[in-house]
Amino acid sequence: MRILVVEDEPAIAASVSEALAASGYQTRIAADGDEAWFLGDTEDFDLIILDLGLPRMDGLSVLKRWRAGGRHMPVLILTARGAWPERVEGIDAGADDYLAKPFQIEELMARVRALIRRSAGHASPILASGPLAVDTRQMRVMVDGSNVAVSPLEYRLVAYLLHHQGRVVSPGELIEHLYGDDDARDANALEAVVMRLRKKLGAGAVETRRGFGYIIPAGSE
Ligand code: CA
Repeated sequence: MRILVVEDEPAIAASVSEALAASGYQTRIAADGDEAWFLGDTEDFDLIILDLGLPRMDGLSVLKRWRAGGRHMPVLILTARGAWPERVEGIDAGADDYLAKPFQIEELMARVRALIRRSAGHASPILASGPLAVDTRQMRVMVDGSNVAVSPLEYRLVAYLLHHQGRVVSPGELIEHLYGDDDARDANALEAVVMRLRKKLGAGAVETRRGFGYIIPAGSE
């Protein structure tokens, strides 16, 4: 899961980004509206946290431009306390949720989890397909109800494929969503992670469609 944090106050951007990383999300930070608009328009994010008061282009204009351009990722706006007309305008412009500043980081994280679940069409924090399940609140992977020890990268890979179960996901898309900007981005490394996961979760847990990518079949349960 990849999240763009748009915030011009470095301290807030850093604390939000750290909390997201601790929960297993990949983050990017944009510190002005122009950069935010460009990143949101040219890269895929599973969620965008958007401060409305930004230099160079205000958050509301950024949001309107994304939506006018057909970009439908979930957007959570950060508004000034008491600025209710701003919230109304933001939701009318296509925001999916809002949080007034100052906020508790725990509340932000709960809203992030809920938005990501909703956007993937999952109402429960548990994603499952057959014997395989992921608890997105506790970041745990289970097979037949028993916990399986996985690395953070393995967790992200299973969670991403389960969110998109039934769809073949290309190596490029996976690499984009799983690795940070500083990590080595390499399809062979990805294949090695998938092979480790098969050993841990069962040979059929993640299928390879040669030349196309990886898939966790849609669960019948
Ligand atoms: Ca601001």
